[in-house]
Amino acid sequence: MKKKVVFTALIGVIVVGGLWSQVNANTQTKSAAVPEASQQQPSIEPSSKPTVEPSSEPAKNPKPSEKPPSKPSVKPPAETKPPVKETSISSLLADNLPRLTVKKNKDGLAVVTNTSSLFVLVNKKRNLPSSYAPKDLVIPNVPFSFSGDSPKKQMRKEAAKALEALFDAAKDDGIKLKAVSGYRSYATQKAIFKSNADTKGEEVANRTSARPGQSEHQTGLAMDVSSASVGYALEQSFGDTKEGKWLAKHAADHGFIIRFLKGKESITGYSYEPWHVRYVGKELAKDITKKKVTLEQYFDALSATMDNKS
Ligand SMILES: [Zn+2]
Repeated sequence: MKKKVVFTALIGVIVVGGLWSQVNANTQTKSAAVPEASQQQPSIEPSSKPTVEPSSEPAKNPKPSEKPPSKPSVKPPAETKPPVKETSISSLLADNLPRLTVKKNKDGLAVVTNTSSLFVLVNKKRNLPSSYAPKDLVIPNVPFSFSGDSPKKQMRKEAAKALEALFDAAKDDGIKLKAVSGYRSYATQKAIFKSNADTKGEEVANRTSARPGQSEHQTGLAMDVSSASVGYALEQSFGDTKEGKWLAKHAADHGFIIRFLKGKESITGYSYEPWHVRYVGKELAKDITKKKVTLEQYFDALSATMDNKS
């Protein structure tokens, strides 16, 4: 009996409640719109799922298309000046691997093909063409060990800017450096080697000076640097001065490497030259300096790594 009473009472409450809510719905249409909208929410979810799946298929396309855009952007940097902006250093280096950037000329001489690249490797086995002269030579605004105009004050624009920053940083640290010798044309190098060979003999000349076409000074990316403490001479004792030590420690911060390291004569073909800095850009300079290797060794290791990958 009691159950029945409770049951009918419940029905009554539900019916009245239902009526009341209908009245509410009619009078307050605004608030009724809220539950309607919220009811639509579940219908959004299922419809959103299918749109995800088809989009996952085209998402596979960007992968193959990622490679082509990086390739065309790799080649131009050899000509255009600031190459290290958009393209990664590794792909630039890959394009400038020594074995890919050399060919024999009609006389059987190995001549480099990436003459104007910041990563060009020039040594006794890799010659610059006798006709090569950089197109963007400027005189860096740094102190020189001599006065007056001279072609050997010049460097390529990017290297010259970097040299200015290097000298500024030295000055800030109380280190006084002077530039001694930068760009050298093929003809000038020819005259220097001949003069050295005439006075010291060809064997000594070969160890201490470059044959024409084999000097980094022809690239416009090298500068000989010295200090008053050694009378601005280009001699190995410069490496023991505070200026020489500073240079070895900070050159890479500005994109330069000490090109001819102590103990690496058999690799570079030249005696230790603590005064000769070569511009290769900050990223590469820092990596080479950290690894304590020569440019030759760096490229050899890179070549080996790439061969293993392919
Ligand atoms: Zn030099």
